[in-house]
Amino acid sequence: MPLYDVIIIGGGGAGLTAAIYTSRAKLSTLLIEKLAPGGQIALTDVVENYPGFPEGITGPEISQRMEEQAKRYGTAIQYQEVQSVAKKNGIFEIRGMQENFQAKSIILAAGASFRMLGVPGEKELTGRGVSYCATCDGAFFKEKEIVVVGGGDSALQEGLFLTRFASKLTVIHRRDKLRASPILQERAKNNPKINFLWDTVVQKIHGAKKVEGLSLENVKNKETRNFPVDGVFVFIGHDPNTAFLKGFVELDEKGYVKASSDLKTSVPGVFAAGEIRAGATKQLVSACGEGCEAALAAQEYVEHS
Ligand code: NAP
Repeated sequence: MPLYDVIIIGGGGAGLTAAIYTSRAKLSTLLIEKLAPGGQIALTDVVENYPGFPEGITGPEISQRMEEQAKRYGTAIQYQEVQSVAKKNGIFEIRGMQENFQAKSIILAAGASFRMLGVPGEKELTGRGVSYCATCDGAFFKEKEIVVVGGGDSALQEGLFLTRFASKLTVIHRRDKLRASPILQERAKNNPKINFLWDTVVQKIHGAKKVEGLSLENVKNKETRNFPVDGVFVFIGHDPNTAFLKGFVELDEKGYVKASSDLKTSVPGVFAAGEIRAGATKQLVSACGEGCEAALAAQEYVEHS
């Protein structure tokens, strides 16, 4: 089994940037990603706030370009899920679904996954009208009436994208104030296809073979009603992908990895970058910046320990 200088777990913006830096520093680098390069960015329609792309760049394109750049400098990439990490005799052992790996240092960059509503009907109708990815499923809703649940940047950005397909889109938010950035709020409020339902939560998703409607509740006056709809897109935030790290590194109460300002975790030789880290700003540009910092810290560790 080869002993890598650095193993990076997670291939989003943080992990791929870390890989570019460690590979260019001539450290033998393996990046392990469970799905596809880019992480959450790969599922995003367009990235408008990454410097250098004044017209924006699609999520899949920037993901693919970052992967090419890491590979160009020698990063090896494995697509499989990591199940556990341990340290034995000063060496890190990473157990994957198909194979095990060894490394002198680790960069944790596994990010976070979308949160589910947890209401009746959601699991049963996922893929049959319930979706968490506008770019993957939007085209199935041409001239259909859909809802987006959530009031953050994801809800509005993906909602705006979905208006290319839907005839009508309702944003259902549990409060009467959006969390999203002002520029997205302005665009959504000016879009004639978008309506808002404030102070409202989804209690149940109905449908025999596909989504047919929702049971909604107004959280202020407790009134309930049925809301016929063809599709539901859920964008209510994320939970960290840290189940495989429990008992290995220190996590905060929400499950994010605790790290110092120089991205060191509670285990020497293990660094955290991007959305997996407690306190991260959850922006692509800062995830990439942290990927760079974690790579430099890992380089220092490998060369001096
Ligand atoms: P978020 O900012 O955490 O927003 C989640 C939204 O869902 C909030 O409005 C929240 O309501 C609502 N929500 C949470 N749990 C809920 C539940 N159980 N039922 C109903 N509603 C619920 O998540 P996000 O929009 O995915 O964004 C994550 C991070 O990525 C943010 O830092 C964001 O700025 C960033 N991001 C940036 C861009 C961009 O720059 N263009 C695009 C996408 C994401 P409350 O407001 O009441 O808490």
